[in-house]
Amino acid sequence: MKVSERLEKIPPYLFAEIDRKIAEARAKGHDIISLGIGDPDTPTLAPIVEEMHRAIDNPKNHDYPPYNGTEKFRKASAVWMKKRFGVDVNADSEVLANIGSKEAIAHVFFAYVDEGDYTLIPDPGYPVYKNATIFAGGTPYAMPLLDENNWLPDFDKIPPEIAQKSKLMFLNYPNNPTGATADLEFFTKAVEFCKKYDILLCHDQAYCEMTYDGYVAPSVLQVPGAKDIAIEFFSHSKSYNMTGWRVGFVAGNAAAIKALGTIKNNIDSGVFKAIQDAATAAYDVDSKYITELNKMYQERRDVAQAGLKELGWDIKPSKATFYLWLPVPKGYTSEEFVTVMLEKAHVVVPPGTGYGQYGEGYFRIALTKDADTIRECIKRMKDAGIKY
Ligand SMILES: *Cc1c(COP(=O)(O)O)cnc(C)c1O
Repeated sequence: MKVSERLEKIPPYLFAEIDRKIAEARAKGHDIISLGIGDPDTPTLAPIVEEMHRAIDNPKNHDYPPYNGTEKFRKASAVWMKKRFGVDVNADSEVLANIGSKEAIAHVFFAYVDEGDYTLIPDPGYPVYKNATIFAGGTPYAMPLLDENNWLPDFDKIPPEIAQKSKLMFLNYPNNPTGATADLEFFTKAVEFCKKYDILLCHDQAYCEMTYDGYVAPSVLQVPGAKDIAIEFFSHSKSYNMTGWRVGFVAGNAAAIKALGTIKNNIDSGVFKAIQDAATAAYDVDSKYITELNKMYQERRDVAQAGLKELGWDIKPSKATFYLWLPVPKGYTSEEFVTVMLEKAHVVVPPGTGYGQYGEGYFRIALTKDADTIRECIKRMKDAGIKY
């Protein structure tokens, strides 16, 4: 039976070809190290797990949850927004619980995009923005993220006729895959642009707590008047090592929260209430846990950076995320280089092209292995004669 046209329009899954090559290399008996996937390698913070034990024993948590999230979780999320960013959001009308941010990010396109509409999405970027646009029948317009612009899109380069046909813009800072950060001045420009063209501004805030060297990530909702057109997606996944738990929330413009809620309550039935209790406890976790976690990633970042420098990659240390975005050596495409990394060094890294056309010429390293394993990867690269 033929699948839908919308499914046929989706590019092949980023890791499918890599998975095939990994299987091939493992079958030959090679020990493969993956720096591929952005999934924390250490456990969920202990106080959250403890709260889950209590929460799961509570029979009141066993039935269907409210569609928009428990009152306790929404209120705690609003309090966290105030404490963390100084931003006021109404827990009833401006906050919505999500089954991890990925589903909510995908579903918001269905709330706003019709056939013929455009969306403005970062390239390179998290693949969901582009694919959900296509699922919703829209046309993605790539905003290039370039080194010379510090990996920020240049709104002046967006043709006005495209902006007029656009319903939705996605931004994501701290950024996957580039590790770049954005300041409030940039967010202010984004808000102005989206107000001018009546575009819903969606900010993916997955990495706001994964920051180094004293850097503190801002919220787009700190821009005065941002709530007129903006929503922001927060996720417990990367901040509290909770990728498997599937929980987060989106906050901001009430009409957009309501529209997304309507799509969602026709498709899913919310987040298990015990998980919402545990996610609520996450906000009260002593900041020393987050500090420890960030110290660990910062050490790995420094180990990777020093090792890569010896191989010729002279990169600026990233202030946030657990990603390094690196140029491939001259003479290689992204795909060719990641194949060399796999076959000669037995290290898996995704090609930049997996994140969009402007990812050509780059590859990504995820710091989701301990410092010794990262040292081993560098050694393998050196032994294989890989350098920049
Ligand atoms: C990991 C990631 C997400 C998804 O997080 P979940 O809340 O686990 O669904 C969203 N956006 C970006 C950019 C990510 O890297």
